[in-house]
Order: sequence, then structure tokens, then C-alpha cells
Amino acid sequence: MTAPTTNLPATTPVTRQTFDEVMVPTYAPSTLVPVRAKGLDVWDQNGRQYLDFTAGIAVTSLGHCHPDVVHTLQQQAEKLWHVGNGYTNEPVLELARTLVAATFADRTFFCNSGAEANEAALKLARKYAAKNGHTHKTRIISCVNSFHGRTLFTVSVGGQPKYTEGFGPLPADLTHIAFNDIEAARAAIGDDVCAVMVEPIQGEGGVMPATTEYLQALRDLCNQHGALLIFDEVQCGMGRTGQLFAYMGYGVTPDILTSAKALGNGYPIGAMLTTNTVAAALVVGTHGTTYGGNPLAASVALTVLRTINVPSFLLRVKHASKTLILALQNLAQTYPHILGEVRGSGLLLGIQLTPGYAGRAKEITKLAEDQGLMLLIAGPDVLRFAPALIVSDEQIAVAADRLRAALAQIA
Ligand SMILES: *Cc1c(COP(=O)(O)O)cnc(C)c1O
Repeated sequence: MTAPTTNLPATTPVTRQTFDEVMVPTYAPSTLVPVRAKGLDVWDQNGRQYLDFTAGIAVTSLGHCHPDVVHTLQQQAEKLWHVGNGYTNEPVLELARTLVAATFADRTFFCNSGAEANEAALKLARKYAAKNGHTHKTRIISCVNSFHGRTLFTVSVGGQPKYTEGFGPLPADLTHIAFNDIEAARAAIGDDVCAVMVEPIQGEGGVMPATTEYLQALRDLCNQHGALLIFDEVQCGMGRTGQLFAYMGYGVTPDILTSAKALGNGYPIGAMLTTNTVAAALVVGTHGTTYGGNPLAASVALTVLRTINVPSFLLRVKHASKTLILALQNLAQTYPHILGEVRGSGLLLGIQLTPGYAGRAKEITKLAEDQGLMLLIAGPDVLRFAPALIVSDEQIAVAADRLRAALAQIA
């Protein structure tokens, strides 16, 4: 047997170009390659500093390398990583107990991502109906422009046809309705519906908050037709709106809530929360995952949850939100031909581009990056702001200055 060809010498540096050579081409990452980060500061391969207003897509809500989170991970890494579902573990039990105490829920299921949390929620909704003898209740209602993840089930429930193109046949009995349209909901939700899934604030779909009336109408229609209401809080939960979960601000309680993203501050974990009655459908063997709720992920999430779910922390998010909204509205006044409405909640904010600049959000974020500001888009026409929740007023001012410089270039 011939020896395998040797690896490239370790001295050959990897660059952005390497991505195009060895990665599946499903992403188009920026030219900057981050190597190190602290708080909201990110440094690239050339040692250049950037201010991060993306938080890794609303994930690193306590900032990069938060000392308590790093400490927790280091401590747990020396203790116990993984045991499998034949055993439970202390961190996951603490995490579950803390989530249950903080929310409407009685029960939790842990997994590794937002898509998996939603997959669990959707499967549970079908199982719950079947277990209760309602075999005709298979339909799932969701909203146009929603985003629920990339597994076949969640991407099909998501309301963006471009993401399911070419992946058919898709799961059956899914209906998409216009977001925030109560009449459309009334027309679609009948006795064959097992669940309605909705993001209280559509994130990927353009930073569109639901109205309270809409969520309350969904709640009432679900009650009327024996359907479960599922809130996807993967992006808008975990303190992002200034409430631990967005439903708390709306005063409308779901039957199932999903969380991920900021729950682990960058360590992969997802959670599905539900009530005793609904959870009872997932008897032994009906659902599972190898890594879900492992001690490493659970210990990190517990520290994150304990840090975020503190009144003074959440109040600061609301203050920072006001400061950021004012700064963005100020920019919109300077550049009214580019920037339209500022919307969203807490530190999940979006600016709609004017029709004259439609489709140019990505271009603007590239120019902002040149000025040292990392930004997100939410579709082709919306700039999205999702900084770490620890963002300071000074950092908001710097971000506004850098974005102003970027807008000056395109104007
Ligand atoms: C990001 C996101 C998901 C998917 O989460 P993954 O961890 O990428 O699977 C689902 N729902 C919403 C609202 C999201 O923003």
C-alpha cells in the first residue's frame, strides 16, 4: 500500500481564497477573515479592528469571549463533556429548571440548532394531534417570508420559496398566509390544523414585528380550533427585545416556544419549551438527538441565561435600543433618499431602503465593512442591526459614524 499523500505544510496560510477552493459554495462570505474577538470588537487576519453589529447573526449576545461564558466552558471542559441520552446530567437539569421557572413552560427538549428546535416543535404538533385521536389534524400554518431553518420540514414551513426550490417533494399539508393579516389567518385556520408557527418578529424576512392584535388573533383561533400556537423565538428571544422572550412583551403565550442562537452565545444549542399537556405526546423513543443537552452546551447556556435574565440587564437593552433607534433615525434624516423606516424591537432593528435603493442592502454593508463596521442585511432591501446586547452608547455612536461614512460613498 502506498502512503497517503502528505498534508500541506502547516506553514501554508489559509485565506479567503481557500474557501472558494475547498468549501461547498453555499455561502459567499466577506473578504475579511476574523481570527480573534472580544466584546463587540473583531480583528481580521491583517490585525484590522471591526465593530461587530451582527453578533454572528444575533448569537453572541453577551459579546465575543464573555469572561463568564469562557470560564464556564473551561470549567465544564475539564469535568464532563458528553454522556448520551442513556444518562442525564446536572447542567442540563439546572438549565431546564431555570428555563421552566422563567417562562410559561413546564418542560424542555434540547437540541443543537434553531432548525432542530423547530423540527421538534413541528413533529410534536403532529404527534400531539395523532395521539389525541385527531388524525385529520395534520395541517401546519405559517407565514409568507418567515424563516424557520433549513431541514426539509422547517424550510418547507418557512415562507421563502427560493429556499425550497429543487428540494421537492416537500412535506405535505403546509399552508402559508400573509404575515400580520388577521383575515387571512381566520380563513386558513380550520379544524384540520394542528399548529400555527410564527416568529413574533420576523428576522430574516426583513425585521418585521407582528402586531399584538395579530398574535392575539392567532392565539384565539388556535384555541377555537384545537391547534397549537408555536412561537419561533430563535432570533428574537433570549433578551433581544429587552424581554427574556418576545412573547412576554406581547402578553400572548404560545403552547410551544423555540430558542437557539443567543441561548449558547456561540456554543451550539437549541431548545423547545412546552407545557405538561403537550409534552406528554413525546413518550420514550418518539424523538431524540445524540448531542442535545450535553453538559458542555447546557452549562454555557445556563450561564448565558443567568446573565441575561436579570432586570437591570434587560432594562439596559431597552435603553440601548432607544439610543440606536435615535442614531438610525438621525441617519435617515441625513439620507432620506436612501433610508426609509426604522423598525423592530430592542436590539433587533432594521432600516428599509427606499425604492430608489432597492436591492442594494448588501452593497451598503460592504461599504460599512470598509469603514470598520460589520452589519447584516435582512433580504435585499433591509439593513439589519443586531449588536451584542452589551453594546455601549459609545459603540452605537461609532457605528453610526462609520455607517454615515459608508452612506456618503453611495449617496
Ligand atoms: C436562525 C433562525 C432559525 C434557524 O436556526 P439554525 O440554528 O440556523 O438552524 C430558525 N428560526 C429563526 C427565526 C431564525 O432566525
